[in-house]
Amino acid sequence: AVEVHDVHKWYGAHRVLDGVELTVRPGEVTVILGPSGSGKSTLLRVINHLEKPEVGYVSVNGEPIGVRRHGERLKELSERVILGQRGRIGFVFQNFNLFPHLTALDNVAAAPVATGKLTKPQAQELARELLGRVGLADKVGAYPRQLSGGQQQRVAIARALALGPGVILFDEPTSALDPELVGEVLAVIKDLATSGTTLIIVTHEIGFAREVADQVVFLDEGRIVEQGPPTEVLDHPKHERTRDFLSKVL
Ligand code: ATP
Ligand code: MG
Repeated sequence: AVEVHDVHKWYGAHRVLDGVELTVRPGEVTVILGPSGSGKSTLLRVINHLEKPEVGYVSVNGEPIGVRRHGERLKELSERVILGQRGRIGFVFQNFNLFPHLTALDNVAAAPVATGKLTKPQAQELARELLGRVGLADKVGAYPRQLSGGQQQRVAIARALALGPGVILFDEPTSALDPELVGEVLAVIKDLATSGTTLIIVTHEIGFAREVADQVVFLDEGRIVEQGPPTEVLDHPKHERTRDFLSKVL
Protein backbone atom coordinates (compact mmCIF):
# COMPACT_ATOMS: atom_id res chain seq x y z
CA ALA A 1 0.00 0.00 0.00
CA VAL A 2 1.01 3.60 -0.53
CA GLU A 3 -0.03 5.89 2.29
CA VAL A 4 0.26 9.65 2.10
CA HIS A 5 -0.07 11.11 5.59
CA ASP A 6 -1.11 14.77 5.92
CA VAL A 7 1.46 15.94 3.38
CA HIS A 8 2.15 19.66 3.13
CA LYS A 9 4.60 21.01 0.58
CA TRP A 10 5.34 24.66 0.08
CA TYR A 11 7.73 26.81 -1.92
CA GLY A 12 8.19 30.05 -0.01
CA ALA A 13 4.67 31.31 0.72
CA HIS A 14 3.13 29.14 -2.01
CA ARG A 15 1.30 26.14 -0.59
CA VAL A 16 1.47 23.51 -3.29
CA LEU A 17 0.20 20.56 -1.25
CA ASP A 18 -2.01 21.40 1.66
CA GLY A 19 -2.72 18.39 3.85
CA VAL A 20 -3.03 15.52 1.38
CA GLU A 21 -4.23 12.18 2.80
CA LEU A 22 -4.34 9.29 0.40
CA THR A 23 -4.27 5.51 0.62
CA VAL A 24 -3.62 3.29 -2.37
CA ARG A 25 -4.17 -0.38 -1.60
CA PRO A 26 -1.94 -3.07 -3.11
CA GLY A 27 -2.96 -3.98 -6.63
CA GLU A 28 -5.24 -0.98 -6.96
CA VAL A 29 -5.15 1.75 -9.56
CA THR A 30 -5.54 5.37 -8.51
CA VAL A 31 -6.05 8.09 -11.11
CA ILE A 32 -5.26 11.67 -10.08
CA LEU A 33 -7.01 14.50 -11.90
CA GLY A 34 -6.83 18.22 -11.41
CA PRO A 35 -6.18 21.52 -13.11
CA SER A 36 -2.71 22.68 -14.11
CA GLY A 37 -0.77 23.80 -11.05
CA SER A 38 -2.98 21.88 -8.60
CA GLY A 39 0.01 19.88 -7.31
CA LYS A 40 -0.35 16.54 -9.13
CA SER A 41 3.28 16.24 -10.22
CA THR A 42 4.46 17.49 -6.85
CA LEU A 43 2.43 14.78 -5.13
CA LEU A 44 4.07 12.08 -7.29
CA ARG A 45 7.48 13.63 -6.64
CA VAL A 46 6.89 13.56 -2.89
CA ILE A 47 5.83 9.90 -3.10
CA ASN A 48 9.06 9.10 -4.96
CA HIS A 49 11.10 11.27 -2.61
CA LEU A 50 12.22 13.61 -5.36
CA GLU A 51 10.72 16.31 -3.11
CA LYS A 52 10.63 16.39 0.65
CA PRO A 53 7.39 17.48 2.30
CA GLU A 54 7.52 20.25 4.92
CA VAL A 55 4.96 18.36 7.01
CA GLY A 56 3.74 14.77 6.85
CA TYR A 57 5.23 11.71 5.24
CA VAL A 58 4.63 8.92 2.79
CA SER A 59 4.97 5.21 3.40
CA VAL A 60 5.16 2.44 0.83
CA ASN A 61 4.36 -1.09 2.02
CA GLY A 62 4.63 0.11 5.60
CA GLU A 63 8.05 1.65 5.15
CA PRO A 64 8.17 5.45 5.53
CA ILE A 65 9.77 7.04 2.47
CA GLY A 66 12.71 9.31 3.24
CA VAL A 67 12.24 9.17 7.00
CA ARG A 68 12.06 6.59 9.74
CA ARG A 69 10.07 6.62 12.91
CA HIS A 70 12.09 7.36 16.00
CA GLY A 71 9.74 7.41 18.93
CA GLU A 72 7.24 10.10 17.99
CA ARG A 73 9.68 11.83 15.67
CA LEU A 74 10.59 11.14 12.09
CA LYS A 75 14.27 11.02 11.27
CA GLU A 76 15.81 11.47 7.87
CA LEU A 77 17.20 8.43 6.12
CA SER A 78 20.59 8.36 4.48
CA GLU A 79 20.85 9.04 0.76
CA ARG A 80 21.81 5.40 0.23
CA VAL A 81 18.63 4.11 1.84
CA ILE A 82 16.57 6.67 -0.07
CA LEU A 83 18.04 5.46 -3.36
CA GLY A 84 17.13 1.92 -2.36
CA GLN A 85 13.58 3.01 -1.59
CA ARG A 86 13.31 4.89 -4.85
CA GLY A 87 14.30 1.73 -6.69
CA ARG A 88 11.15 0.11 -5.38
CA ILE A 89 8.98 2.84 -6.91
CA GLY A 90 8.79 3.05 -10.69
CA PHE A 91 8.34 6.46 -12.30
CA VAL A 92 7.18 7.07 -15.86
CA PHE A 93 7.44 10.66 -17.06
CA GLN A 94 5.56 12.64 -19.67
CA ASN A 95 8.68 12.99 -21.83
CA PHE A 96 9.95 9.39 -21.52
CA ASN A 97 13.42 10.47 -20.23
CA LEU A 98 15.23 7.56 -21.89
CA PHE A 99 19.03 7.54 -22.12
CA PRO A 100 19.59 8.67 -25.75
CA HIS A 101 22.93 6.87 -26.12
CA LEU A 102 21.59 3.48 -24.99
CA THR A 103 19.52 0.94 -26.94
CA ALA A 104 16.04 0.01 -25.76
CA LEU A 105 17.54 -3.14 -24.24
CA ASP A 106 20.20 -1.25 -22.29
CA ASN A 107 17.76 1.46 -21.18
CA VAL A 108 15.74 -1.29 -19.51
CA ALA A 109 18.75 -3.25 -18.25
CA ALA A 110 20.68 -0.27 -16.83
CA ALA A 111 19.09 0.16 -13.40
CA PRO A 112 19.18 -3.48 -12.22
CA VAL A 113 22.89 -3.54 -13.12
CA ALA A 114 23.68 -0.14 -11.57
CA THR A 115 21.96 -1.10 -8.31
CA GLY A 116 23.80 -4.41 -8.21
CA LYS A 117 20.57 -6.42 -8.30
CA LEU A 118 21.46 -8.37 -11.44
CA THR A 119 24.51 -9.13 -13.54
CA LYS A 120 24.55 -7.60 -17.01
CA PRO A 121 23.52 -10.84 -18.80
CA GLN A 122 20.71 -11.40 -16.28
CA ALA A 123 19.50 -7.81 -16.67
CA GLN A 124 19.54 -8.08 -20.45
CA GLU A 125 17.53 -11.28 -20.32
CA LEU A 126 14.98 -9.57 -18.09
CA ALA A 127 14.97 -6.54 -20.40
CA ARG A 128 14.19 -8.76 -23.40
CA GLU A 129 11.30 -10.32 -21.54
CA LEU A 130 9.93 -6.92 -20.42
CA LEU A 131 10.29 -5.39 -23.88
CA GLY A 132 8.35 -8.37 -25.22
CA ARG A 133 5.66 -7.72 -22.66
CA VAL A 134 5.21 -4.13 -23.90
CA GLY A 135 5.13 -5.31 -27.54
CA LEU A 136 8.66 -4.27 -28.50
CA ALA A 137 10.45 -7.61 -28.93
CA ASP A 138 11.60 -6.47 -32.39
CA LYS A 139 13.02 -3.14 -31.11
CA VAL A 140 15.52 -4.28 -28.50
CA GLY A 141 18.48 -2.92 -30.51
CA ALA A 142 16.88 0.42 -31.41
CA TYR A 143 18.01 3.74 -29.97
CA PRO A 144 15.37 6.14 -28.63
CA ARG A 145 15.68 8.45 -31.68
CA GLN A 146 14.75 5.49 -33.90
CA LEU A 147 11.50 4.91 -32.00
CA SER A 148 8.13 6.64 -32.11
CA GLY A 149 6.93 8.49 -29.01
CA GLY A 150 4.58 5.63 -28.17
CA GLN A 151 7.38 3.10 -28.51
CA GLN A 152 9.72 5.24 -26.38
CA GLN A 153 7.09 5.46 -23.70
CA ARG A 154 6.63 1.69 -23.76
CA VAL A 155 10.41 1.30 -23.29
CA ALA A 156 10.12 3.68 -20.34
CA ILE A 157 7.39 1.48 -18.85
CA ALA A 158 9.55 -1.63 -19.32
CA ARG A 159 12.38 0.25 -17.63
CA ALA A 160 10.15 1.10 -14.67
CA LEU A 161 9.21 -2.59 -14.39
CA ALA A 162 12.83 -3.74 -14.41
CA LEU A 163 13.38 -3.06 -10.73
CA GLY A 164 10.30 -5.06 -9.75
CA PRO A 165 8.73 -2.03 -8.12
CA GLY A 166 5.97 -2.25 -5.53
CA VAL A 167 4.21 0.66 -7.21
CA ILE A 168 4.55 2.56 -10.48
CA LEU A 169 3.82 6.28 -10.73
CA PHE A 170 2.84 7.78 -14.10
CA ASP A 171 2.90 11.53 -14.68
CA GLU A 172 0.75 12.30 -17.75
CA PRO A 173 2.26 9.37 -19.67
CA THR A 174 0.38 10.08 -22.89
CA SER A 175 0.14 13.85 -22.99
CA ALA A 176 3.27 14.31 -25.13
CA LEU A 177 2.11 11.75 -27.70
CA ASP A 178 0.41 12.21 -31.04
CA PRO A 179 -3.23 11.16 -30.65
CA GLU A 180 -2.83 7.99 -32.72
CA LEU A 181 -0.08 6.74 -30.36
CA VAL A 182 -2.00 7.24 -27.12
CA GLY A 183 -3.94 3.97 -27.39
CA GLU A 184 -0.89 1.69 -27.53
CA VAL A 185 0.54 3.19 -24.35
CA LEU A 186 -2.77 3.10 -22.51
CA ALA A 187 -3.15 -0.57 -23.55
CA VAL A 188 0.18 -1.41 -21.88
CA ILE A 189 -0.80 0.46 -18.70
CA LYS A 190 -4.16 -1.30 -18.73
CA ASP A 191 -2.36 -4.64 -18.97
CA LEU A 192 -0.34 -3.74 -15.86
CA ALA A 193 -3.51 -2.66 -14.09
CA THR A 194 -5.27 -5.95 -14.76
CA SER A 195 -2.21 -7.96 -13.74
CA GLY A 196 -2.37 -6.48 -10.26
CA THR A 197 0.43 -3.91 -10.26
CA THR A 198 -0.19 -0.97 -7.91
CA LEU A 199 -0.43 2.14 -10.06
CA ILE A 200 -0.84 5.85 -9.43
CA ILE A 201 -1.54 7.67 -12.67
CA VAL A 202 -1.89 11.38 -13.36
CA THR A 203 -3.87 11.57 -16.59
CA HIS A 204 -6.66 13.48 -18.21
CA GLU A 205 -7.76 10.44 -20.22
CA ILE A 206 -11.17 10.20 -18.59
CA GLY A 207 -12.38 7.18 -20.57
CA PHE A 208 -9.27 5.28 -19.51
CA ALA A 209 -9.76 6.36 -15.89
CA ARG A 210 -13.33 5.09 -15.98
CA GLU A 211 -12.14 1.73 -17.28
CA VAL A 212 -9.14 1.02 -15.06
CA ALA A 213 -9.30 3.15 -11.92
CA ASP A 214 -10.32 1.72 -8.58
CA GLN A 215 -10.30 5.22 -7.21
CA VAL A 216 -10.22 8.66 -8.76
CA VAL A 217 -8.81 11.61 -6.85
CA PHE A 218 -9.56 15.19 -7.82
CA LEU A 219 -6.90 17.60 -6.63
CA ASP A 220 -7.37 21.37 -6.62
CA GLU A 221 -5.02 23.95 -5.13
CA GLY A 222 -3.09 21.27 -3.29
CA ARG A 223 -6.12 19.69 -1.64
CA ILE A 224 -8.10 16.57 -2.39
CA VAL A 225 -11.53 17.96 -3.18
CA GLU A 226 -13.14 14.66 -4.02
CA GLN A 227 -12.16 10.99 -4.15
CA GLY A 228 -13.92 7.72 -4.75
CA PRO A 229 -14.72 5.15 -7.42
CA PRO A 230 -14.98 6.46 -11.00
CA THR A 231 -18.74 5.96 -11.01
CA GLU A 232 -18.95 8.56 -8.25
CA VAL A 233 -16.22 11.08 -9.01
CA LEU A 234 -16.49 11.01 -12.81
CA ASP A 235 -20.19 10.32 -13.27
CA HIS A 236 -21.72 11.93 -10.18
CA PRO A 237 -19.25 14.53 -8.90
CA LYS A 238 -20.43 16.24 -5.74
CA HIS A 239 -18.34 19.36 -5.93
CA GLU A 240 -18.76 22.30 -8.24
CA ARG A 241 -15.02 22.42 -8.93
CA THR A 242 -14.92 18.77 -9.99
CA ARG A 243 -17.93 19.30 -12.28
CA ASP A 244 -16.37 22.40 -13.76
CA PHE A 245 -13.07 20.61 -14.39
CA LEU A 246 -14.72 17.55 -15.93
CA SER A 247 -16.82 19.70 -18.23
CA LYS A 248 -13.57 21.12 -19.63
CA VAL A 249 -11.66 17.87 -20.14
CA LEU A 250 -14.45 15.59 -21.35
P1 ATP B 1 0.33 20.42 -14.57
O1 ATP B 1 -1.04 19.85 -14.84
O2 ATP B 1 0.52 21.72 -15.32
O3 ATP B 1 1.43 19.45 -14.77
P2 ATP B 1 0.54 20.02 -11.68
O4 ATP B 1 -0.80 19.78 -11.07
O5 ATP B 1 1.38 18.83 -11.97
O6 ATP B 1 0.33 20.88 -13.01
P3 ATP B 1 2.76 20.90 -10.09
O7 ATP B 1 3.80 20.74 -11.14
O8 ATP B 1 2.71 19.91 -9.00
O9 ATP B 1 1.31 21.03 -10.75
O10 ATP B 1 2.96 22.35 -9.50
C1 ATP B 1 2.10 22.87 -8.49
C2 ATP B 1 2.54 24.28 -8.18
O11 ATP B 1 3.81 24.26 -7.57
C3 ATP B 1 2.66 25.18 -9.40
O12 ATP B 1 2.11 26.43 -9.09
C4 ATP B 1 4.15 25.28 -9.61
O13 ATP B 1 4.49 26.50 -10.18
C5 ATP B 1 4.70 25.13 -8.21
N1 ATP B 1 6.04 24.52 -8.19
C6 ATP B 1 6.33 23.25 -8.56
N2 ATP B 1 7.63 22.98 -8.41
C7 ATP B 1 8.19 24.12 -7.91
C8 ATP B 1 9.52 24.48 -7.52
N3 ATP B 1 10.53 23.61 -7.60
N4 ATP B 1 9.70 25.74 -7.05
C9 ATP B 1 8.68 26.60 -6.96
N5 ATP B 1 7.41 26.32 -7.29
C10 ATP B 1 7.17 25.10 -7.75
MG1 MG C 1 2.26 18.04 -13.68
